[in-house]
Amino acid sequence: MAKYQKNITFDILLEKVKTYITDSLELETIAKAYEFASEKHFGQKRLTGDDYIVHPLNVAYILTRIKADYETLSAALLHDVVEDCAVSIKEIEDLFGENIANLVEGVTKINKLNFSGDNEMVINNQRKILVGLSGDVRIIIIKLADRLNNMQTLFVHSERKQKSISKETLDILTPIANRLGMNTIKQDLEELCLRYLKPDEYYNIVENLNATKAERDNSVAKMMDNVSEILNKHGIKHEIKGRSKSIYSIYKKLEKGKRFNDIFDLLALRIYVDTEQDCYQALGIIHSKFKPKPNRFKDYIAMPKTNMYQSLHTTVFGVDGQLFEIQIRTYEMDRVAEYGIASHWSYKEKGSVKAVMQNEMEQKLQFFRSIMDLKKTQDNAEDFVNKVKEEVFQNTIYVFTPLGDVIELPNGSTPIDFAYKVHTNVGDKATGAIVNSNMVPLDYKLKSEDIVKIITNNNSTGPSREWLNIVQTTQAKNKIKAFFSKANREEYIKRGEELLNKEVRKQKLVLSEFFSDENIAKILEELKFGSLQEIYSNIGSGKLSAETVALALQKKEISKEDKILEKASKGSDKSSNNNSLVSIAGIDDIKVNLASCCNPVLGDRIVGYITKGYGVTVHRMVCPNVSNRDERLIEVKWNEVVNKLPTNILVRINTNENILVNIVSKISNNDVPVRRFNVNHSKEDDVIEMTVLVNSKEQLLKVMNDINMIEGVTEVERLIK
Ligand code: MN
Repeated sequence: MAKYQKNITFDILLEKVKTYITDSLELETIAKAYEFASEKHFGQKRLTGDDYIVHPLNVAYILTRIKADYETLSAALLHDVVEDCAVSIKEIEDLFGENIANLVEGVTKINKLNFSGDNEMVINNQRKILVGLSGDVRIIIIKLADRLNNMQTLFVHSERKQKSISKETLDILTPIANRLGMNTIKQDLEELCLRYLKPDEYYNIVENLNATKAERDNSVAKMMDNVSEILNKHGIKHEIKGRSKSIYSIYKKLEKGKRFNDIFDLLALRIYVDTEQDCYQALGIIHSKFKPKPNRFKDYIAMPKTNMYQSLHTTVFGVDGQLFEIQIRTYEMDRVAEYGIASHWSYKEKGSVKAVMQNEMEQKLQFFRSIMDLKKTQDNAEDFVNKVKEEVFQNTIYVFTPLGDVIELPNGSTPIDFAYKVHTNVGDKATGAIVNSNMVPLDYKLKSEDIVKIITNNNSTGPSREWLNIVQTTQAKNKIKAFFSKANREEYIKRGEELLNKEVRKQKLVLSEFFSDENIAKILEELKFGSLQEIYSNIGSGKLSAETVALALQKKEISKEDKILEKASKGSDKSSNNNSLVSIAGIDDIKVNLASCCNPVLGDRIVGYITKGYGVTVHRMVCPNVSNRDERLIEVKWNEVVNKLPTNILVRINTNENILVNIVSKISNNDVPVRRFNVNHSKEDDVIEMTVLVNSKEQLLKVMNDINMIEGVTEVERLIK
């Protein structure tokens, strides 16, 4: 990890810069920026007791690691003068030109933001950072370096501040560094965050690593000799380096329940070769000598990660029967792996560095495009930030178009999300989907590496309103909504008329009788509409079902409310008193049922649904059986003490071996009773449906996680009926 350079001087920085910048005008600008900053910060001190200028010098020094260009380095030196020394952007622009001034202005802006917190101002500010970010990616790169230096000197702050800054860094900045592929800075940030957030775990790992270091170094050296010898024998020019796993990645694995000794990629090496072809040859040679561990091979050369990372990964049984994780890559791939988006600096395309990087960013990192899309469609700042957080920082999956393009989507996305990501027209005209050569329903949950083909039909009348309950991405949601608001009333009326005619025929009613003036008048009365046109329009826009209208006078159609009630109360224990489980603001003494369709447990985000005469049914917010626009929804909160509650989970397994015992014992290890257990066999996999009794969402997630770790289990999810 890079160290904080307490005694840094401009000469030390300059020496480093000169290793890759030779243009004398550029070097002069950097020197001028230093002179200016040093004069302006004169007399100011950091909390560390150092002269203030030590900080901007360190930020610039960090940036030389990724070979930042002269504009970025100059801006890094100047990044605090506007904020701390009352210098105007205009002055910077006059002295250093527009580009550098823009960078300084961008950094100044985003440095005023405070990400932790939840008031409107903060949220607005978060929005600005993302917008600023899109202007010039170098702003965020300087911000990352600035934060890294601030993390390096975090020891001067109170424990509370150390923790809050670390948390913010881990929440907001390291994911961005990861997206930009800036591995070196990301790893340093993560390690520092861990040290302050979980000092016990951090030092425990450090001690463990130190205790086993000699042994590991010995094994790795032996393995390196072996591998080098066989590669030389086959005439492959290469370099091998032992590789230490980052402390943070070890922490993440321990956190998932692995034991220290089991983290086999503690023994790791990396092989550098000249060409892509050499990568594959080296792999073949290594596999012929050392047995590979099944399912551990990953070809990120043919299928790069979306942050552009490329390498071959394999795990082999190496010397002394120990497992070694081996990465094979070219020097070029290594540069991208370490510097990510900043790797373009080394191309030295004069004057167009920014354009190249910006282009790369927009092309490869769909993340930014989604943000820009959101920016256009979300009016409300709070919504915007929440959605961005959800989409950007939640787990993502990567799927392919039939032509092999990678599409990035949030976990749980459907073919509809995919279709809208590809193109609005593809989404609007989608009628079906083929995933890995199989026809799937449109609400199918995509998995990473699925190959997705969308079937479109030009005669399609457009998306269905139902899709709004199915899609995951805001992009798809907005586009579907846009479709419906765009389609004008006439289209609704036309479609509504068609649908109602069809439904009337389907119900075997006589058309002329049904549409007689007398009959229509009764229907308008019954359904409280002013005109038949209005009914058509409501059917056409999906607000009203044609069936409801067709059967309006026949029998009382089962209302949506009753349907929900029926679903919710089916199988639930009506005699139990749930009133103490949740509280409802402003209402005491109301009967409360937990919906049996989604089975909320303590800790779930919940919402109440008022059912006339029956009290309130509590659903999970994500439950599709309640629509979020319904007026009958009310806010409810969990009370502290709740008994164990039943909830349903689905476990998919793809093995013939009997792992049921395994699953059940994992569950009972968590002190979680199983109330119901049901196995469905199908061609591809077995699906186990079960009802478990849990204290809280936390406990449920722990159980699900434990089950997920069992070999042969492919998926664990909560079930909503
Ligand atoms: Mn700073």
